[in-house]
Amino acid sequence: MSTDSVQSRRLTIGVPRALDYYAHFPLVRELLVGLGFDYVVSEPTNRAVVDAGTSYTVSDACIPVKIFHGHVESLFGRCDALYLPRLVKLRRLKHDGRSFRETFCPKFIGLPDIVRNSMGLETIEQLGPAARARRALRRRLRLREGEVAPGVRELPVVQRGQGGPGLDTDRPIVLDIDIDLTKRLGTLYRVANQLRRLRFFSYPRLYLTYRRALRVQRRYENLLGAGLSPREVLAVIDGAERPERPPTPRGPLAVVGYPYLLYDRFLAAGVVERFTKRGYDVWTPWRLWKDKRALALGARVKSRPLFWHFSNIVCDAGLYLMRYGLTPEQLAGERLSRRGYLYRLARKRPGAHDTPIRGLVHVTSATCGPDAFVGKYLELTAKRLDIPLMVLQVDEQSGEAGVLTRLEAFCDMLERR
Ligand code: SF4
Repeated sequence: MSTDSVQSRRLTIGVPRALDYYAHFPLVRELLVGLGFDYVVSEPTNRAVVDAGTSYTVSDACIPVKIFHGHVESLFGRCDALYLPRLVKLRRLKHDGRSFRETFCPKFIGLPDIVRNSMGLETIEQLGPAARARRALRRRLRLREGEVAPGVRELPVVQRGQGGPGLDTDRPIVLDIDIDLTKRLGTLYRVANQLRRLRFFSYPRLYLTYRRALRVQRRYENLLGAGLSPREVLAVIDGAERPERPPTPRGPLAVVGYPYLLYDRFLAAGVVERFTKRGYDVWTPWRLWKDKRALALGARVKSRPLFWHFSNIVCDAGLYLMRYGLTPEQLAGERLSRRGYLYRLARKRPGAHDTPIRGLVHVTSATCGPDAFVGKYLELTAKRLDIPLMVLQVDEQSGEAGVLTRLEAFCDMLERR
C-alpha cells in the first residue's frame, strides 16, 4: 500500500457490541458513516470474549463491564479508533413537578478511563490538536502497514503528558466522547471536535448527518416498542422484511433488565426469545421505552426517582406492568392514551379491560449496585400485588443449562397457577 492510499483510506472505527450498543447503535452508525468513516462491530459475546474481559478487570466489576473489555480486545488490529462513549446525561427528569438529576452508574461514566488504563490505550486527545493528530495518525497507519522505507527510523507517536516511546501501534486510539444530551448542540460540538482530529468535515455536514441519525434512532426505538429485538430492528432498518410476531396464547409476561443483559444472547441465554417460544407475550422495559405516560405512572410508585437513567426505565416499566397490566391499545402496539393515563392517575388502579401480566422476571448482574435498589422496589411491589417474581442473576460463571433450568421451573409454576 502506498503512502497515498494510506492517506486516502477511510478510517475504521470499532464499536464494541456491549453496554450502550443495544440502546444507541443506529445513531452512532449513521453518524460515523455519514461523516465518512468505516465502522466495524465486534462479534457477538462468546466464552473467549468473557474470558478475555475477565482477565483485564477487577473481580468485583459487573459482568457487562467485563465483557466490554473482551469486546474491545477483539477489535484490536481490526480498527484505527474505538468508539468509547462516556454517557453522562441523556434527559432532564421531572417527577411530581420537581426537577431531578439523573445520570449513569459510575462504571458507565468512568468506562473510557477504566478501559484505557487497564488495556494501555491512548486517547485521541493525547495525539495533540486537530492537524497534528491527523499527521500522527497517518504516521501510525504507515507503521502498521509496513510502509516505512528500510533504514528510516520512525519517531514514536507524540504523547502529551507521557514520557517514553509510543504505545503498541496495533492498538486503536480511544475516542473518549462525553455524551450529555441535556446540553444539546454543545455535546454535538464536542463530538465534532473529537472526530475532526481523525478526519476533517464541515460543521453543516455534521449537523445534517446528526439530524438524519436522530431520525434513524427514532425509528429504532419505535420498532423496539413494537416488540422486535435490537437484532431484528437493525435487519428491518437495513431493508429486511419485518418478522411476524409468533402467537402468544399464554398472555403477557414482564421480563425486565438492562438492554445489554436482556439482548446479549450469551449472557442471559436468550431469555426473551425463550419465553416468546413458550407462548408468552414478553414485555421488556425497552418495549415501553417511548411510552412516556406508562413510565410516568410507574415512576409514581416511587417517592423520588433513582439517580441512574437505565435503572429508572427498568424500574418504572416493571412497576407499571405489575400495577396496571396492559391496556387493549398497548396490546395492539400503541402507546397509552392521554385519557387512559388520566383515568389511572385519578383512580390509581387498572381499567376494567386491562390485561394483568402473568409474572415478572428481573434479569440482573451480580455486583450491580443500582440493581440493589431496582430489585427491592420490584420485589416489594410483586409481594404486595401477589405477582410471581423470578430474579435471574448472571455472572461470568453462569452456564446456559443453569439459566434454562430456572426458566423451565418458573414457566411450570406459572402454568400451574
Ligand atoms: S448499571 Fe449495573 S450492570 Fe450496568 S454497568 Fe452499572 S453496575 Fe454494571
